[in-house]
Amino acid sequence: MAQERMLKFVGKGQSFPEKREPNLRAEDFREIANRYAPEKAAEQASRCSQCGVPYCSVHCPLGNHIPDWLRLTAEGRLREAYELSNLTSSMPEICGRICPQDRLCEGNCVIEFSGHGAVTIGSVEKYITDTAWTEGWVEPIEAGPARGQSVGIIGAGPGGLTAAEQLRIAGYEVHIYDRYDRAGGLLTYGIPGFKLEKDVVMRRVDRLQVAGVVFHLNFEVGRDASLDELRAKHDSILIATGVYKARDIKTPGSGLSGIHAALDYLTASNRKSFGDAVPAFDNGTLNAEGKNVVVIGGGDTAMDCVRTAIRQGAKSVKCVYRRDRENMPGSQREVANAEEEGVEFVWLAAPKAFDGTERVEKVHVSKMRLGAPDASGRRSPEQDPEGDFILDADMVIMALGFEPEDLPGLFGSPDLNVTRWGTIRADHVTGMTNLEGVFAVGDIVRGASLVVWAIKDGRDVVEHMHRWMAANVRTTKAAA
Ligand SMILES: Cc1cc2nc3c(=O)[nH]c(=O)nc-3n(C[C@H](O)[C@H](O)[C@H](O)COP(=O)(O)OP(=O)(O)OC[C@H]3O[C@@H](n4cnc5c(N)ncnc54)[C@H](O)[C@@H]3O)c2cc1C
Ligand code: SF4
Repeated sequence: MAQERMLKFVGKGQSFPEKREPNLRAEDFREIANRYAPEKAAEQASRCSQCGVPYCSVHCPLGNHIPDWLRLTAEGRLREAYELSNLTSSMPEICGRICPQDRLCEGNCVIEFSGHGAVTIGSVEKYITDTAWTEGWVEPIEAGPARGQSVGIIGAGPGGLTAAEQLRIAGYEVHIYDRYDRAGGLLTYGIPGFKLEKDVVMRRVDRLQVAGVVFHLNFEVGRDASLDELRAKHDSILIATGVYKARDIKTPGSGLSGIHAALDYLTASNRKSFGDAVPAFDNGTLNAEGKNVVVIGGGDTAMDCVRTAIRQGAKSVKCVYRRDRENMPGSQREVANAEEEGVEFVWLAAPKAFDGTERVEKVHVSKMRLGAPDASGRRSPEQDPEGDFILDADMVIMALGFEPEDLPGLFGSPDLNVTRWGTIRADHVTGMTNLEGVFAVGDIVRGASLVVWAIKDGRDVVEHMHRWMAANVRTTKAAA
């Protein structure tokens, strides 16, 4: 249904105003522009061999019709390419920028297999939809005939925003509650602006707002309302709260000042790019300029931290990771980018203690080696008796990953079922939790994952929410 409606939208030729946030750093735009000049789109698209089995599409979580929109791009039929790309994705220009393509579509391109380098699918995808925004081909969302039912969505990240769009199209009143002051979730405050410009996110949010989606920002469920209160207000609820509890390691000296959680550091930097006053950045606490920075961790968040520190003018940036390059969880492409920019990787190393008087000054590091594979088949790191060493550090950033918060406790809903990892236990097909009419999507179900998967979940869940609400019509509730 949603796809038919989207098809109906395209071709009307109405433009949608593009709003730019002030104070975005010019060099952020330059970097992205330099990385991929628009005229390369057709050239890259024409490299697609249109092979019989589109492995790229199979490995795209959204099942995007990649070879088809590449062909249209190669033929200069950009508007049709956009329409096709828009059919299966709610945020193609965002996925094109930040999907780890080397692990998804591009990593499975047959041209890559033949040793000639993958078609740069993500860059073409970004180019197509950026052009659509510039040319006014991106239509306003057309809300369906009002059904007299409302949905409350907790969390304005990609999962919640995607579902909101589809629910509005289906005619539901949609209210999104988010504890941050801006919508977008990790698109806004996690992922740095040099990878994803903030106006690109905000124009998607604005489009939803124009379509009548009501945003309740600075609204924390658990503090400003319980889950039960929201259930009483709405016909159905979608939980899309992501995972925010930073993993920690118990290391002597970890209480010293100058040691920060990755998300605090990245959020401060992102707030600056919006032009916000950020005292902890302005007084130098969360600013890496002139400092010896050590980032602990080997995932994509760690890569974002090291690359942000380089851009802030750090004196030196080291990334300490307990496994080797081949066994790190972060994208190899991001590692290569970071190395090119001057980041030094210290593989097979783990912090043993932080040292300093009040502020951190040194990191004592243990050498590690890879032992026998664990239950997951990955070789476990163990301490190498060969020795320890010391790194200078004025700033340490802990990027060890994220876990779910205690949602049943936070929401005042001890009956909400969660797994032993704290993620919400939702039906694999419908996305419904054990609470009637309460659904869940994105990282809070999968654990820390990817934007493209949150988008996929947000698109998939709407059909099941719709079915449930159609079968459970009750007196309309007053949505505040
Ligand atoms: C630093 C970093 C970089 C990343 N880079 C990439 C990348 O390059 N590519 C990629 O694909 N993925 C990346 N990811 C992962 C990606 O951002 C997430 O998988 C994705 O954002 C999950 O979407 P979501 O909608 O489930 O949750 P989120 O984006 O986390 O959004 C959840 C929202 O819920 C709100 N919320 C939480 N609790 C409450 C509450 N109690 N009341 C009200 N609101 C609440 C939060 O404020 C937030 O706005 C990155 C993650 C991090 C941390
Ligand atoms: S959504 Fe991600 S995986 Fe799918 S085509 Fe786009 S960049 Fe590739």
